[in-house]
Order: sequence, then C-alpha cells, then structure tokens
Amino acid sequence: MTSKVKAALKKLKSEVKKARLVAVSKYVSIEDVKEAYNLGQLDFGENRVQELIEKATSFQNLGLEKVRWHFIGHLQTNKVRELLKVPRLWAIHSVDSIRLLEELLKRENDFKGDELKIFFQVKTSSEEEKSGFESEEELAQAIQMINSKKGTKFKVYGLMTMGPIRTDYFEEAAVRSFELLKKIRDEISSRFAIKDLKLSMGMSRDYKLALDAGADFIRVGSLIFKPNLQEQTKNGVIGHEH
Ligand SMILES: *Cc1c(COP(=O)(O)O)cnc(C)c1O
Repeated sequence: MTSKVKAALKKLKSEVKKARLVAVSKYVSIEDVKEAYNLGQLDFGENRVQELIEKATSFQNLGLEKVRWHFIGHLQTNKVRELLKVPRLWAIHSVDSIRLLEELLKRENDFKGDELKIFFQVKTSSEEEKSGFESEEELAQAIQMINSKKGTKFKVYGLMTMGPIRTDYFEEAAVRSFELLKKIRDEISSRFAIKDLKLSMGMSRDYKLALDAGADFIRVGSLIFKPNLQEQTKNGVIGHEH
C-alpha cells in the first residue's frame, strides 16, 4: 500500500508544479492518511463532516499540526457548526448557495482558527445532481456578503467546479467546464477588483486537463489511494466511481 501511495504522490507532485495537490482521503482510513502525511502530503480533502471530524481529531491528538483540511463535499446547513469546529480546517471548497453562506456567517464564532478560505462552487455543467452557483450576480452577492462583514475570518479565496462525469466525451466537456470557470473568475475579479482568486478544479480523471486550464488546486483521490479502482474505471470495468 505505502509504496503505491508514495509513487502516486511523487508522480502527482512532479506534475502539479505551482498548483497545490489536495489528496482526497474520503476513501481511506486514518492510518492511510497518516502515512501520506508522513510522506510529506499536508493537504487533505474530505466530503463528509463526520469523517472529517474523526480524522482531524485524531491528527490533533497526535500533534500532527501541519495538516490542512479541506472540506469538499455538499454541506448541509445543520452540519455547519460541527464543521467549523474541526481543528486545522483550512478551506471549504463547496460553498454552493447564499443560504449556506448565511448560515456559515451566522455560526462563524464556532471557527477557532485564524482564517478560513472560502471557495464558491460554481455549476459549470448541466448535470442535475451538481450543486453550485449558477449566475455571476449570485456569486457577486456572496462575495459582498463576506467582504462587508467587519472582522470576519472568512476569506473570499476562490472558485471550485467539477467537470461532468456522465458523458462519453468527458475530456472535451471537462475542458469546457474548466475554461468556463476561468472566464467567470476573470470577470468577477475585474468587477470586484479581487486579485488572485484561485481555481479549484480537476479530479483523478481530469486533473491534467485542469492543470492545463490553469488550476491552482486539484482534488485527487482515487488515483492516489485506490489505484486499482482507477485502472478498472479507465478500462470501463466499473461504470462510475462516484
Ligand atoms: C471525491 C471527490 C474528489 C476526488 O475524486 P477522485 O476521482 O477520486 O479523484 C474531488 N472532488 C470532490 C468534490 C469529490 O467529492
């Protein structure tokens, strides 16, 4: 296990260059996350609050302080307080509605860190189950909500998207999604004079396309932790891993 994870991390590190690799650890045990941490991987992504709490608490108890936790999953408003209390929570990539942002702002005191990076999830493909902001107006409103709150620890940090999954032409579709996210980023940036909004895009199957399109953060899981599954999906043995 270790040698495979090590090889996958090494390869990805050499490919990401200036971008940052978020290793999506939702598939694996705390032990496996610790192994990756000990190999120098510090950024981890989780998509379920409960699992993140368990892993982050374990890391805290062991004094593994360099870890940066990224929440990447759909967040229900009734889980907001628990999420904000997670030790070493570094970023939320999946703020996907005004309503959720309102709840986060309301519960901000539960966050004990210095700064929490906020990515707004943008819907860049028409797949039904994908959530996210659908208009620049709404995004603009969300950004203003944070920027107008005095003394907030939330930082408008970037935009996140997911390429489409259920398409025969996933590569073209992914590139379209990523280019669209970049275009939205550029428009928002000039409109609000926000410098340096980051792009969080690209997963195991499309991270290379995302890097080509200018990703600042890629979120890769199965390629690191489930290399066998990844092989099988590539060969079409398993339909969709999601
Ligand atoms: C699971 C997940 C990933 C990682 O997906 P892989 O295909 O395993 O690399 C990335 N982003 C989000 C939002 C996820 O839920």
